[in-house]
Amino acid sequence: MSLDKSRELYQKARTLLPGGVSSPVRAIKPYPFYTQSASGSKITDIDGNEYIDCCLAYGPNILGHANPNIKEAVISQLDKGWLYGTPTEPEVSLADRIAGLYPSIDMLRFVSTGTEATMSALRAARGFTGKNKFIKIEGGFHGAHDAVLVKAGSGATTLGKPDSLGIPGDFTKHTLQVPFNDIETLTSFIEKYNDDLAAFILEPVMGNIGPVLPEGDYLREVRKVTEENDVVLIFDEVITGFRLAMGGAQEYYGVTPDMTTLGKIVGGGLPIGIFGGKKEIMEMVSPSGSVYQAGTFSGSPTSVAAGLAVLDVLEKEDVHKKLSAAGDDLRSGLSDIVADLGLDYTVSGLSSMFKIFFGDRPLDYQDVLKCDKEGYIKFFFRMLDSGIFLPPSQFETNFLSAAHTGDDLEKILSAYEANLK
Ligand SMILES: *Cc1c(COP(=O)(O)O)cnc(C)c1O
Repeated sequence: MSLDKSRELYQKARTLLPGGVSSPVRAIKPYPFYTQSASGSKITDIDGNEYIDCCLAYGPNILGHANPNIKEAVISQLDKGWLYGTPTEPEVSLADRIAGLYPSIDMLRFVSTGTEATMSALRAARGFTGKNKFIKIEGGFHGAHDAVLVKAGSGATTLGKPDSLGIPGDFTKHTLQVPFNDIETLTSFIEKYNDDLAAFILEPVMGNIGPVLPEGDYLREVRKVTEENDVVLIFDEVITGFRLAMGGAQEYYGVTPDMTTLGKIVGGGLPIGIFGGKKEIMEMVSPSGSVYQAGTFSGSPTSVAAGLAVLDVLEKEDVHKKLSAAGDDLRSGLSDIVADLGLDYTVSGLSSMFKIFFGDRPLDYQDVLKCDKEGYIKFFFRMLDSGIFLPPSQFETNFLSAAHTGDDLEKILSAYEANLK
């Protein structure tokens, strides 16, 4: 496999783009492959290598690349112009459909990214409650804005420390952290900080360290303790929304939060973010209320058109059911391989999300950190060499799309077998 063109382009790119990329996770060392095109389950680099794609742009492409229905919807929007700076009918239709699918969402606001969605949801929760603090999960990822770029030290820390240079400690001092799947610590934090606690935000399935799944009744207990203490519960469903079910993790697990953030899938591969929730909270958002929020590209007609198209296909083609079955087959195949090879590894996931943890089954962030991440990177390169593109990290979820065929799944499994060996 030659990567000469990518290597050469990287030399130029790194002088112009920090790390040679436009987002850090793409910076595969010593250099990433640069993509030429993609279609269905396949992605092709500028050297002409073709890979079966299990990264899928880190989540949005649930129908695979260049889906014809989405393409047609975008083209037909382009014919009518693509940015107006006025409200449109399709944004009302998409809002109506989402509100119908997510019982937690009475009203919503379109934004352009998941980062903006969580930033604005937290602002609305703080504005609504008049309180400052919020709790997040250690290892939970909610985009790249100041207040959420905090990870844990060892164990549950009380007041967070910035996880990035350039973020004043004053901006993160209201960010509290608890471990996933630990209702006791959450309850004690809620009791301790309740005077000034606005919200609890979490990914119902931890998609950015794994996936790590909620254990037993965890989400139900989370709902109970936040409700009893008037803490706004925000499900960050930027990964799980329209993935686990049309109604996301909240439908899948039967737990209804107060607010929800969406992104990724719901834009059909075009930029989008959404935050929504109970009427009384969302009516606080400008211009109906005093929580300021705005965006030039919010409700972008092309993103909305692509979003409506992806929802149509997901519903009409019963995609979740098929992906769930394909995911189950793949995970059981992977479990057999791991068992046959006698590895102490763990196959995790549900529906179209999967991962092999190079270690014991993790329940939270600290467990995940114990996995063999260097070993995983070596494995990643072997898989790439075998024509399978996985996200280049032990801590990112692998995805399947509706475009993956039975033949793709067989190739994925035999590559896993050969390279784990
Ligand atoms: C990707 C992601 C975000 C951030 O979305 P962007 O569109 O990259 O800003 C937020 N929350 C979760 C759970 C995500 O996976």
